[in-house]
Amino acid sequence: MTSRALVLAELRRGAVTAGSLGAIAAAARCADEVDVLVVSGTDEVVDDALCGALGGQGATSVHSALLDPALASVCTDVLDQLVSELRPGIVILESSSLASDAAAALAARRSAGVNWDLVGLERDETGSWIGTRFALQDSLVVRVGWTTELAIAVLRPGVFEARDATEDMPRRGALLRDVRSSTAGRVISTDGGEFESSGLDSADIVVSGGRGVATREQFALLEELAALLGGALGVSMPVVDKGWYPHSYQVGQTGRTVRPRVYIACGISGAIQHRVGMARSGTIVVINSDPQAPLFGVCDFGIVGDLTQVVPRLTAALRDRG
Ligand SMILES: Cc1cc2nc3c(=O)[nH]c(=O)nc-3n(C[C@H](O)[C@H](O)[C@H](O)COP(=O)(O)OP(=O)(O)OC[C@H]3O[C@@H](n4cnc5c(N)ncnc54)[C@H](O)[C@@H]3O)c2cc1C
Repeated sequence: MTSRALVLAELRRGAVTAGSLGAIAAAARCADEVDVLVVSGTDEVVDDALCGALGGQGATSVHSALLDPALASVCTDVLDQLVSELRPGIVILESSSLASDAAAALAARRSAGVNWDLVGLERDETGSWIGTRFALQDSLVVRVGWTTELAIAVLRPGVFEARDATEDMPRRGALLRDVRSSTAGRVISTDGGEFESSGLDSADIVVSGGRGVATREQFALLEELAALLGGALGVSMPVVDKGWYPHSYQVGQTGRTVRPRVYIACGISGAIQHRVGMARSGTIVVINSDPQAPLFGVCDFGIVGDLTQVVPRLTAALRDRG
């Protein structure tokens, strides 16, 4: 297995997603060569500045592709083409609706092994790639390897951080080469509902609601607070199960991993599957009527009370402060 890595980076609204930057940085910590494929569904520019920024994360070469149409099958074609040309030992992608489908399709085409939901990635003393992931409802941390020539690693969203300027890694030069490619795929219609963006990934402040929010209408209180703070709304799994918000709003093991400056949890008990998605937030505020709720154990500020009383008062106090 070679130490060369190919990383998929998604370009949205002119910027490479934070998760893609994290994936590049994770690859660069272990691989000698890091090829990055930047994909976009629109004709966005991959210019020298962007390549330089990717080089700053550890990319050694940058390839770009316009996905037209923006389907995982088209993305898979381009990845497949690059795998043939570059012969990487591993393809690394942060999980997203596009990346996860492309990873599965690439694995099927190449008979390559996939490890997914990874929260760690390294190479052992023999040079083999090793991933880390949770198992058995997050009660165990396991190290997983690959037995195939090509390894495919799907990273848990929001876990891998981009390098900051203080990290000791030499800046690498990045080259641009276009790999535009298309297939006979055709989009017939798009239903945006499931893919509605929650804004969770980039939010500085997240106000989250759980089963303690008794009705869909009560969520207006949390939405109002989130809007006032310039933040985003998150929810726990039962709220998605009720169909009140799409899955893109879910925080936790099977949802998003968020790391905002402030996380305000309202009516959320603090099950481990929720905590793994928000425990690395800066300041954690918990509002819960049950003083024994486990989430109080990890919070910085706790308010024992009924959220329908506490949240409006918090909102009013913030409004008073202008
Ligand atoms: C494989 C697997 C994956 C999972 N993935 C996820 C995941 O990604 N994300 C996730 O969230 N969960 C996930 N879960 C579910 C998880 O185990 C919990 O069931 C879930 O997180 C509980 O959600 P909750 O805290 O909103 O509800 P509950 O545990 O029912 O807690 C509701 C809380 O609201 C409080 N409350 C009630 N009324 C009020 C009020 N008026 N004011 C204030 N507080 C009030 C209660 O005291 C209670 O603490 C997963 C489970 C499994 C098995």
